[in-house]
Amino acid sequence: MRNRIFSALLPLLFSIPSAMQAQAKLSVHWEELTGPDFVKAIQQSQGTCILPIGILEKHGPHMPIGSDLFTSRYTSAHAAEQSYAIVFPEYYFGQIDEARHEPGTMAYPREVVLALLQATTDEMGRNGCKKILIVNGHGGNNHLLPYFAQTQLEKPHNYVVYIFDRRMPTTAGGPQKKTTNDQHAGESETSKMMVIRPDLAHPERAKMESGEDQHHSTLPEGVYTGIWWYASFPDHYSGDGSVANRELGEYQMRWWVDSVAKVLTAIKADDTSLKLQKEFWEKSEHPVDTPQ
Ligand SMILES: [Zn+2]
Repeated sequence: MRNRIFSALLPLLFSIPSAMQAQAKLSVHWEELTGPDFVKAIQQSQGTCILPIGILEKHGPHMPIGSDLFTSRYTSAHAAEQSYAIVFPEYYFGQIDEARHEPGTMAYPREVVLALLQATTDEMGRNGCKKILIVNGHGGNNHLLPYFAQTQLEKPHNYVVYIFDRRMPTTAGGPQKKTTNDQHAGESETSKMMVIRPDLAHPERAKMESGEDQHHSTLPEGVYTGIWWYASFPDHYSGDGSVANRELGEYQMRWWVDSVAKVLTAIKADDTSLKLQKEFWEKSEHPVDTPQ
């Protein structure tokens, strides 16, 4: 009898430590934390939070409209598992005017884009995020985000905005790519989606449209105009997703996750930026007193 009770209790005894462990491990996702756990998460992350930014835009004939949201969130969550940080929920309010002619695009007015981004980082800051890393997954944001970061000097606040917006450089190695033009819904992006959400990547449909440069613009190099992208890629597709493969996707995603994890570690160690910001705002109150 005693033996029987003991053997009935045995699995329970073994399950206790793992249950306690599960309780102790904090989720990296903002929306999954309880109030008390959020306080612990802010401490554990040293006030480091990630705002992954995606967009809703067509991605060729073969990829989901939310592709950039999936990739930036996957990268951020996996990086935060390596170097703990709190990851903000789905955010897709960026710059995407160049795809207004395609179905499913959500292009908010510029005032809304900037105001919402500012309100979001302000609210994150008020909740203890002293270091906010924006992980960008969308090419159309690559002018918007540095501008946003630069204009943080406009008025004092007690947090720092950092931006990570790098594509894997060719020097990072990995499987040889088959295409040279690989900008939007092409070989790399499609390969990455085959890793993140294989059920949503359809490389076999990628040839239904052309992602080749149409060269409709006659302007000389060095002249910028908003219609430049449409002039080259009127179907909002640039590259060839049909040659995508998991091996390339795995290599690129590993590079991206590891890069963001390294950035998180560096940001946690950064005690200079906030100090310099404070010194700057103090001086900018009375510029004529700044030593000349
Ligand atoms: Zn994309």
